[in-house]
Amino acid sequence: MLPGVGFECNSYLIRDEKSILVDVGSEGRADELKGFVTDHLGGKNIDKIVLTHTHYDHAGGARRMQDLTGAKILVHPAEGERLSSGDNTLTLEDMFGERMRKFEWSPIDEGSRIETGTGVFEVMHLPGHSIGSIGLWEESSRSLIVGDTVFSDGGIGRYDLPSGDFRTLVSSIERLSKMEIENLYPGHGGAVFGDGSEHVRMSLGLVRSVM
Ligand SMILES: [Zn+2]
Ligand SMILES: [Zn+2]
Repeated sequence: MLPGVGFECNSYLIRDEKSILVDVGSEGRADELKGFVTDHLGGKNIDKIVLTHTHYDHAGGARRMQDLTGAKILVHPAEGERLSSGDNTLTLEDMFGERMRKFEWSPIDEGSRIETGTGVFEVMHLPGHSIGSIGLWEESSRSLIVGDTVFSDGGIGRYDLPSGDFRTLVSSIERLSKMEIENLYPGHGGAVFGDGSEHVRMSLGLVRSVM
């Protein structure tokens, strides 16, 4: 994991026969991230990049990372299609004072399976923070990479940004609260090891208290 500093998101590197990088952060961080990947993979390349959503702090460096690694980028079509059509309102690039460059992407949606060689991650569509937010669930280790839907210690993602929606976010968190999650890897802040479901239940308590 390359922890996010400042507004940057956490990036997660899943090391396997086919390694996967989840979220890339801003374009300014791409060269550092490429170095991190090379160090951890002993010179081997990543196979795929998965974006939990296309806010600039998660996806800004996608094009640069694609140029550096040649990796395929997977994103939910609800966001990928908007980017392809030139609509960048979802990316929050104005808020971050940056410009998001176009990149080539392939669609992933609810139920898509991403094989890494010894493991498999299942895609969950978790809208609410943004329309195409996704999570990646790994059943054997009961691990969830969750983007900005929830954070540790009961945090929740913002729902007031373009394409965000409070009720939809609540539904996504309710869905997560029914799962037995051990390890929770959010897009910002620390990860949770062992009692991920406890943290999700705290998040659910928080959204219910403001409903
Ligand atoms: Zn974020
Ligand atoms: Zn976000």
